[in-house]
Amino acid sequence: MMNDTLYQHGTLALLVPGLLKGTMTMGELLEHGNTGIGTGEGLDGELIILDGKPYQINGQGKIQVVPADFTVPFATIHQAEFTDLGKLTNLTAAEVYQQVAQQVQSQNTFFSLKITGTFQAMKTRAVNKALEPYQTLVEASQKQNIFTGEQVEGTLLSYYSPQVFDGASVAGFHSHFLAADHTLGGHILDFTLAKGQVSWQQFATLEQHLPVTDSAYMQHDFARDDVTSAIDQAER
Ligand SMILES: [Zn+2]
Repeated sequence: MMNDTLYQHGTLALLVPGLLKGTMTMGELLEHGNTGIGTGEGLDGELIILDGKPYQINGQGKIQVVPADFTVPFATIHQAEFTDLGKLTNLTAAEVYQQVAQQVQSQNTFFSLKITGTFQAMKTRAVNKALEPYQTLVEASQKQNIFTGEQVEGTLLSYYSPQVFDGASVAGFHSHFLAADHTLGGHILDFTLAKGQVSWQQFATLEQHLPVTDSAYMQHDFARDDVTSAIDQAER
């Protein structure tokens, strides 16, 4: 496995019309790396994989390690080999993303950003699992809860995607969080960093895997889906 390869199963675009069926197991996904983010079948919570351990933050905010047969419609994973970028202190989320972007000069490649430290404020969301027949991403993601914490220690894991890949993934940063004591986590909506150790890893290759055995996906006509506006509403 090359450490400059980012592996993605499914696309954000396939979630838009409600193709939320789990089409890869966590066990299969973990063959492609030890660090990642994603969601479960039916948007069953938010996933963050750290050091090979797949944590789920469910719609109620409960955090647990998922089993190997847990299935995902969409996930991004890689083998960690981060390079240190130094410390950052007392910055808003926008300031952190801007400083990192300036430092790495990598807006046209995929890269991962990891920040371990203390967050003065952290605001996340996690979606409750939807049941079949699935609604659209925008409808399903409204069944979410928002969680907040102050002075939280933990790890932010983010993937940056170039603008041209908006739809396959979220263009810009897509960030998930796990508190060190596992009391808070999820898809990050906003944060303020008190102090954190920052590292990054650039990818030269995107390996895009698609659910070819899922007939609903294979037969779907994406021409009618407004993918980018749905992603704007549900994922940013
Ligand atoms: Zn997310």
